[in-house]
Amino acid sequence: MTVRNPSEHVDSWYSRSAAPAPAHPRLEGRLTADVVVLGAGLTGLSAALELAQAGLDVVVVEAHRVGWGASGRNGGQVIFGFGCDQPKIADWVGMDASRELFHWSVEGVAMVRERLARHAINADWRDGHAHVAIKPRHVGELKAWQRDLGDNYAYPVQWWDRDQLQAQMPNARYIGALYDPRSGHLHPLNYTLGLARAAVAAGVRIFEQSPVLSLERGPRPRLRTAGGEVEGDFCVLAGNALVHGIAPELDDKIMPVGTYIGATEPLGEARARDLIRNDMAVADINWALDYFRLTRDHRLLFGGQASYSTLPPPNLPGTMMRRMARVFPQLQGVKFDSVWGGLIDISLNRAPHWGRLGDNVYFAQGFSGHGVAATGLAGRILAEAIRGQAGRLDAFARIPHRNFPGGRGLRTPMLVAAMAWFKLRDALW
Ligand SMILES: Cc1cc2nc3c(=O)[nH]c(=O)nc-3n(C[C@H](O)[C@H](O)[C@H](O)COP(=O)(O)OP(=O)(O)OC[C@H]3O[C@@H](n4cnc5c(N)ncnc54)[C@H](O)[C@@H]3O)c2cc1C
Repeated sequence: MTVRNPSEHVDSWYSRSAAPAPAHPRLEGRLTADVVVLGAGLTGLSAALELAQAGLDVVVVEAHRVGWGASGRNGGQVIFGFGCDQPKIADWVGMDASRELFHWSVEGVAMVRERLARHAINADWRDGHAHVAIKPRHVGELKAWQRDLGDNYAYPVQWWDRDQLQAQMPNARYIGALYDPRSGHLHPLNYTLGLARAAVAAGVRIFEQSPVLSLERGPRPRLRTAGGEVEGDFCVLAGNALVHGIAPELDDKIMPVGTYIGATEPLGEARARDLIRNDMAVADINWALDYFRLTRDHRLLFGGQASYSTLPPPNLPGTMMRRMARVFPQLQGVKFDSVWGGLIDISLNRAPHWGRLGDNVYFAQGFSGHGVAATGLAGRILAEAIRGQAGRLDAFARIPHRNFPGGRGLRTPMLVAAMAWFKLRDALW
C-alpha cells in the first residue's frame, strides 16, 4: 500500500488533516465491468458502493485522486433538502412528489451517519445545523420555511429567537435561527476517502490519475483514457462541475461557480467554544451566503466568497479575512492557515439534475452547492435504477431543467450580471 501524499489534493485544512489512504493505479489496457463510473467524488463512490454491495462488478475512473473535487473540499455541512427551495419543487412536480423527494433528502442525511458507523469512517461528525437570520426579512423567510416544513413535510425544526441563538452563538450579527438537530457537519475528505475504502472492500476497482477523454455510447458504453479503456453494461457520469465534453447535453445544464473557504490558525478550545458553544454548523440565508463551523482542532472554518467567473478574487486570503471579520469582529487579526476553493455545479433552477441518457448512461449533477448529503442519495438512486428499480430516479427526472441561456461563451457574463442583482438585494433588504 502506498501512502497518499497530501499535496496531491488542493492544499487545504482537509488535505493537511486527511487520514492516510492508498493510492490507486492508473487505468491501463482494456477492462470490462458491469458498471463503469466516471468520477471518484461522493456521487460516483456512493453509486459504486451500492452497486458492489448488490453484487455488481464496478470500475471507477478518476481524473485526479479520490475526493479531489468538491467532495474533498467543501464546507462539510450535511443538510436536508436540495439547492433550491422546496416550494419550487412542489410547483414543478406537485405536493405529493415534492414530499417524497424531501423525505429522500432526509434519507440522504441519515445515510451519511449510517455509512460513518457501518464502515467505521472517522470523519469528525458533529450534530446540529442552524440557518441564521441577519435581518427582519430573513426572520420572515425562516419562519415561513419552518411552517412549510412542519405543515407539508412533517419535518419539525426549531425556531430560535435572538436570545436562544445568542445562548449558543453570542454574535450580534444574527437575530434568529432555524435549528435542525438531525443535520450536522463532518470532515468531507475523510468521509470521501472512507467511502472509497468501503467501496474497495466491497470489490470496486478504482483508477486514479486517469482523465476520461471520451465516452463511447452504444450497447456497452465505454470510457476511454489516454492509457486505457473500460466498458460495461452501464455507465454512471459523476464528474460534477469538472466534467466537460463527455456528454454535451449535460454540459449546458450546469454552470461551474467558484467558492472559497478559509481555515483559521488554531484558536484554542476556549476561544473557539466562545464562537459556537454547541459546535453546530451555521449558514446565513443571503444569496451570497456565509457559512462556518469549528474543526476538531478548534479552528474556525469560514466559507463564503463566490466567483461566478470561476476566477479566484484578487488577494483571496485578504478578501476572506475581511468577510470573516465582518461576522466575527473578535477574530480581527487572526490568520488563515489555509484558504482554498472549489467548483460547485449550479443548475439554472438550483434543483438536482439526475437522470438517464438513452438506455444505459446515468448521471447526477446540479447539486448547486448542496451536495454532501444529496450525493449519497443520488448514488443510491442511480444504483437502484441500474438494478431495474427506476421509480425514484424517474421522480427526480420530472423536475424540469433548461439550458443556461447564451451558450457557454455568454452564460458567464449573464450570470455575473444576475448575481450582481442578488448581491445588491442582500445588501439593501
Ligand atoms: C468550496 C465548496 C464548499 C461546499 N460546501 C458544501 C456544504 O457545506 N454542504 C453541502 O451540502 N455541499 C457543499 N458543497 C457542494 C458539495 O461539495 C458537492 O455538491 C458534492 O461534493 C458533489 O460531489 P460529486 O461527487 O458529484 O462531485 P465531485 O466531488 O466534484 O467529484 C467529481 C469527480 O469527477 C472527476 N472527474 C471530472 N471529470 C473527469 C473526467 N473527464 N475523467 C475522470 N474523472 C473526472 C473529478 O476529478 C472529481 O474528483 C460545496 C462545494 C464546494 C466546492
